[in-house]
Amino acid sequence: MSVEKVACHCCDLIQEIPDLAPGLKAHCRRCGHQLTAKVPNSIDRAIAFAISALIFLFLSLPFPFLAFQSQGREQEVSLAQSGFDLLQLGFPILALLLLCFIILIPALLLSAYLAILIPLKLDHSRRWMYQVTRLLFTLHPWGMAEVFLIGVLVSLVKIAGMADIVIGMSFWAYVLFAICLIATITSVDKLQLWHQLDHCAGIERAKVQVSEGSALKQEMISCHHCDLLHPANEKNCRRCESKLHPRIPYSMQKTWAYLITAVILYLPANIYPIMNTTLLGSEDPSTIMGGVVLLWQHGSYPIALVVFIASVLVPIAKMLMIFWLAYSVQAGHQHKLTERMWMYRITELISRWSMIDVFVVAVLVALVQLGGLVSIQPGIATIAFASVVILTMLSAISFDPRLIWDNLSDTEIRAINHGQEPLTDLMDDAT
Ligand SMILES: [Zn+2]
Ligand SMILES: [Zn+2]
Repeated sequence: MSVEKVACHCCDLIQEIPDLAPGLKAHCRRCGHQLTAKVPNSIDRAIAFAISALIFLFLSLPFPFLAFQSQGREQEVSLAQSGFDLLQLGFPILALLLLCFIILIPALLLSAYLAILIPLKLDHSRRWMYQVTRLLFTLHPWGMAEVFLIGVLVSLVKIAGMADIVIGMSFWAYVLFAICLIATITSVDKLQLWHQLDHCAGIERAKVQVSEGSALKQEMISCHHCDLLHPANEKNCRRCESKLHPRIPYSMQKTWAYLITAVILYLPANIYPIMNTTLLGSEDPSTIMGGVVLLWQHGSYPIALVVFIASVLVPIAKMLMIFWLAYSVQAGHQHKLTERMWMYRITELISRWSMIDVFVVAVLVALVQLGGLVSIQPGIATIAFASVVILTMLSAISFDPRLIWDNLSDTEIRAINHGQEPLTDLMDDAT
């Protein structure tokens, strides 16, 4: 039995999603993008993980997160305090980035999950829950709990030679929070959640009559937020009320604008110091690459490699890939479709991980403040580098991968398509 016809997010191919058995997922038969997955006991699992995550997040705030001891002096920092410390030290942007990405957005995400899932569990569906669901999936890429944890580990290695580090109770609470947050996110499938909202509200969506091929070529528009198919003349989504657009509006212009700004800022981000260490009155500024070399010289090879990959390789690779994707669309290229789709997925996946170095600076600045003995200040490059990461994320989000397929003629599309059924297989963690 099929549930709904949807157009693939990445290639716009219309496919009929079957009623999946628990533990199965459906992939687009043309580009391989995961269309939907049926997580067993999805709502129960997500509610349990989200409540646990919120409890662990709450526990991770007031207690000591890390302590730093050097020559009889000690500096202790809690997560809640670190943001205020950065603010007091005169680094409001760093404080804002830290608080938003590691506490506020994850907390908002978890609260939004609970606000939708608990009423759904009780068989209630209200109009506002549709809007919250939209907000939820827009916020997803900006919660960076796990990236922050890797940043903390890198910070520990960086100052391990300088002093004794004590890991506090809050650190372990934050680790458990990050694990529960990931478990919550992976327990909920976007399309299944929209279906559940409709189901509880008693709404039956009429199945649209379309044949195989691209949605746009049949004058149909897929809602960017909830995947519901509409005739091209409709202005707002019938399910989530968001504005309908055949493709992301001004996709290419926005992609190029964000990308070019990121490339320009990448230069100061690498030339200027990202961090200034003052040890017994003498200043030692270090750039991103300088930090990697120092870690390597001290024998911390794995950490040096992590920082090199996240802070040097990933941003360059990401910018080159977005450049190639945008250029190939505008040049009307019709080849290497699968390779370009892989490229698009990789840019989406790796975007956030470059934030590691920004978190390293934030942790070290909040932690290492022992007056004349030793203190760490952020360099000008910190804000430039954080902007590069945010701009490349925005650039990847603005790029509409369906444009890659729009260059294909109908005959070429027919040669690639074979029917309307997506490919189904077992989920990796089906239990
Ligand atoms: Zn596809
Ligand atoms: Zn919608």
